[in-house]
Amino acid sequence: MKRKLSLWERLYFPEIIRGMSITIRAFFRPKFVRQYPEERWIPPPVFRGRPVLVVEDETGVERCVACGLCARVCPPLAIQVQAAETELDKERYPELFEINMLRCIFCGFCEEVCPEEAIVMSKDFELTFTSPEDAIYAKDKLLIAASQLKDRLEFLKQYR
Ligand code: SF4
Ligand code: SF4
Repeated sequence: MKRKLSLWERLYFPEIIRGMSITIRAFFRPKFVRQYPEERWIPPPVFRGRPVLVVEDETGVERCVACGLCARVCPPLAIQVQAAETELDKERYPELFEINMLRCIFCGFCEEVCPEEAIVMSKDFELTFTSPEDAIYAKDKLLIAASQLKDRLEFLKQYR
């Protein structure tokens, strides 16, 4: 049944005043809008940006031993790994390692399952592609020095 409006309600006066008071209060509150991209945001270590492969600073060698666990656990099948043999102690390395960033859902399962802490979630969230091929990140885009991923690696040591 339709409710009968009072005279005040029919004038909409109290509601207009209430709305204006909210607007005025918000006007004087501290601003929290970031002037992106001029003002950059540095995510905290808990943030899950795009997954990357860790490279040891001293040796320049990637930690990955091409076991394939990350590819197996990845829910949208975004990872492709192809193993090859190496003279190094680790015996195997990823000859090919690709992540399809159009598929990746930033779940972090790859990071969680990796026995070598070789794949970690970085702070990089600025991803742009102009074609589906561009979205396939190979080793040239994935390999990042451990020193640049210090925050995340320390976070994992603490909470894993
Ligand atoms: S973050 Fe998740 S979806 Fe993305 S590559 Fe890792 S396991 Fe796959
Ligand atoms: S990144 Fe880790 S889980 Fe994935 S293939 Fe390499 S060693 Fe295995």
